[in-house]
Amino acid sequence: MTELRIVRSRRKTLALQVLPTGEIVARAPLRLPERDIHAFAEQHAAWLEAAVARARAGSRAAQQAGILSEAELQRLRTAARADLTERVTRLAARMGVDFAGITIRAQRTRWGSCSARGSLSFNCLLMLAPPEVREYVAVHELCHRKQMNHSAAFWREVALWLPDYAAQRAWLREHGPALLGRLPET
Ligand SMILES: [Zn+2]
Repeated sequence: MTELRIVRSRRKTLALQVLPTGEIVARAPLRLPERDIHAFAEQHAAWLEAAVARARAGSRAAQQAGILSEAELQRLRTAARADLTERVTRLAARMGVDFAGITIRAQRTRWGSCSARGSLSFNCLLMLAPPEVREYVAVHELCHRKQMNHSAAFWREVALWLPDYAAQRAWLREHGPALLGRLPET
């Protein structure tokens, strides 16, 4: 029988999910019998097996990619400074906003930030992400020059400049943790 972790909530339908670790989670309604959950998983066994194999291969790749050395980080910082300075300068002119300067950091917690005074900071690990993702993070931070929050108005502004931003956000959610995990412990 497929091994799975059952998470019950007030939802109405049963859904199976494969985590990046390869663990299978069944999100189930409160009172659905456990044997029904397992029967459902058995019906989807082929799909689950393929998804688990994909997830395990992905997490192995992340582990093998390994912790970045100081020299590698330095190269990423230099590349990020050039790349993001070009992006932000181009985008700011198009969006009609200004900014106070750009700092490149190596952080475990965030991809970018924008201070009240317009100082932007970006994570050098963005250089390990696709260019479209860097474009999204640059647009995101510059939109904070108009909205210092994550309100609906903020996301409307992001969508105005980058209609497919949701795909880039999804990329960061899916692959971001593995990238952040490549920073050395400080
Ligand atoms: Zn933000």
